[in-house]
Parts: sequence; C-alpha cells; structure tokens
Amino acid sequence: MEAYDLIVVGAGPAGLAAGLYAGRSRLNTLVMESMMPGGQAAVTDALENYPGVGLISGPELTQRMLEQMNEFGAELATGEVTGIDARDGEFFVVAGGEERRSRALIAAMGTRYRRLGVPGENEFAGRGVSYCATCDGPFYKEQEVAVVGGGDSALQEALFLTRFASKVYLIHRRDEFRAVPVLGERVRAHDSIECLCSHVLKSIKGESGVDSLELLNKKTDETRELAVPGVFIFIGLEPRTDLLRGVVELDEAGFVPTDQDMKTNVRGLLAAGDCRVKALRQVSTAVGDGATAAFTAYRYVEEGEW
Ligand code: NAP
Repeated sequence: MEAYDLIVVGAGPAGLAAGLYAGRSRLNTLVMESMMPGGQAAVTDALENYPGVGLISGPELTQRMLEQMNEFGAELATGEVTGIDARDGEFFVVAGGEERRSRALIAAMGTRYRRLGVPGENEFAGRGVSYCATCDGPFYKEQEVAVVGGGDSALQEALFLTRFASKVYLIHRRDEFRAVPVLGERVRAHDSIECLCSHVLKSIKGESGVDSLELLNKKTDETRELAVPGVFIFIGLEPRTDLLRGVVELDEAGFVPTDQDMKTNVRGLLAAGDCRVKALRQVSTAVGDGATAAFTAYRYVEEGEW
C-alpha cells in the first residue's frame, strides 16, 4: 500500500493550494480528485475578485494553480474516492479499488449545487435542467432560458447566459436578492434579463426535453406557464462530505467544523475550502484555507504538534 505524509482529497482551489504549500514544505503529498482539477472554479466562466489577477476565466486560474502545485512536487491522482477511514492514527483512502494511507489528511471536497426537488427536475436533468451555465449555456443560442435563485451564483450565471440566450428569466422567491449589490444592479439594468421576483418554480414540464415551467406568483397566488427549453438551478450549495460521515464531526448541513488552523475534531484530519463551516465561500478564502491546512499538517507530521 502506498504511503504518504499527506493526502488531500479534492483538487479545487483549496486542495490545489494545500498541495502547493505541502509540496513546498517537502511533505510527500498526494492530491486526489474524481473529476477534473479546479472544482467549481473550473466551471466558472469569469472571476473578477481574485486579488491581483483581475478578470480571468476559472479554467485558466485553476490550471495555473495546478501547474504551480506540480512544480513544488505534489502529485495529482485522478479517480473517484470511494472510501475514507481513520484507524490507529493514520488515514486510509480508497480509489479505483486501491487503498493508500497517510499520516495527515486534508478534506477539500467542496460542494455541489443543491437540487430544488420539484416534479420534472430529476427527469429532465441533462435534458434541459442544468446546474452548470458554463457547460450548457452554449446550447441555448438565441433561445430563452430561465435561472432559479437569488444568490451570487444565480445572478452571476444569469449574466453569463445573456451571451447566448436571447432572454433570461430570473426566478427568485423573494423581492430582494441575496447576492452582493453589484450583481443585483447589473442584473436589474440588463436588457436581456427579466426578473420574476416573488415567483417559485412549481414543476418542470416536457416530453423529450424541457418545454415549460409552472410558476407561482407568491403575491397574487396565480400560476403561469413559462415556455423555455432550459432551466438553470442555482439555489445554494451542499457539501460533498458523504464519505466523512462517521469519520469526523459534521454540522447539521454536513459541513465540517474546524478551528482557525483548519483542525477538525480528529487528530491529523483537517478541512479546507467550501466543505468546511465558514461564512464566505470564495476562491480567495479557499486558497487561504488550503495554505493554512497544509501548514498545520506540516507541523503535525514533522513535529507531532496538534
Ligand atoms: P446562496 O448564497 O445560498 O443563495 C441561494 C439562493 O437560492 C438564495 O437566493 C435563496 O433564496 C435561493 N433558494 C434557496 N433554496 C431555495 C428553494 N428551495 N427555492 C427557491 N429558491 C431557493 O447560494 P449561491 O448563490 O450558490 O452561493 C453560495 C456561496 O458561494 C455564497 O457564499 C456565495 O457568496 C458564493 N459565490 C460567490 C460568487 C462570487 O463572489 N462571484 C459566485 C458564486 C458563488 P433566499 O435568498 O430567499 O434565501
């Protein structure tokens, strides 16, 4: 069984930064990722708030992070992690039927978009229901689409979709957006976005793909049909921490509580990025978490400090 000083599970910005800092500290480090490296940032069209970089595409920024991590010697392994266990002061990670062990582990598994749970959502997932505007937006050139949600994700992706779609309906259950004001201002000022505030999506209808949405106006209690071939759902995030259940303490929503050094309640096990309990989920805060977690892991592996 291959043994490492440190295994990082997840190669989003938190995991890549952890790999970079751990590699640079000469820890024998493996970063494991089931999909492409870069996490949610890699499917974000444009980032404009990563300090010092200016406007950059998510794929470009995360590719640079990966290259920089590789330069410092951390290894990337691609394959779905199917098991994580803590035994006798060590960690065991299973992927592709192979088990690897490490002295410290950083959980950086990030989040996935939450499902709405309305009729038609599962049935038409991938056939008109999408959780990724970067992936599926180009399919809707000169067509009308809908976005559900009122947070940063929904507003940012609605703006992005105006590059392809002739019109974007933004369906939000309240009148005020949760998103930062700058996004709200851009959305409200955009000619191709129509805000359907105080509306909720009741069901998604179609035959081979999505044909229409059933909407309820919460103020008038009236329902209406909105004919669109695509709906993008951005109603928040849920942590990808299923494999940590029973291994480490999780909060009610499944996020990992940590202290300021990224330590969890299990010695040697740290968490970084969107999957941990925190107030601000950004690439910049994920990178800070990853660096801190790697530093704490170094002190634990080399000096036994916890
Ligand atoms: P979020 O901030 O949790 O917002 C979720 C939105 O979906 C809210 O407007 C919420 O409505 C709505 N919602 C939740 N459940 C719903 C339901 N069952 N039916 C209808 N609407 C529902 O999630 P997010 O936008 O995905 O953002 C997650 C985190 O990533 C945030 O910390 C955000 O700042 C960050 N992020 C940042 C950027 C950026 O900085 N550019 C971009 C993307 C994401 P209510 O408002 O009524 O609760």
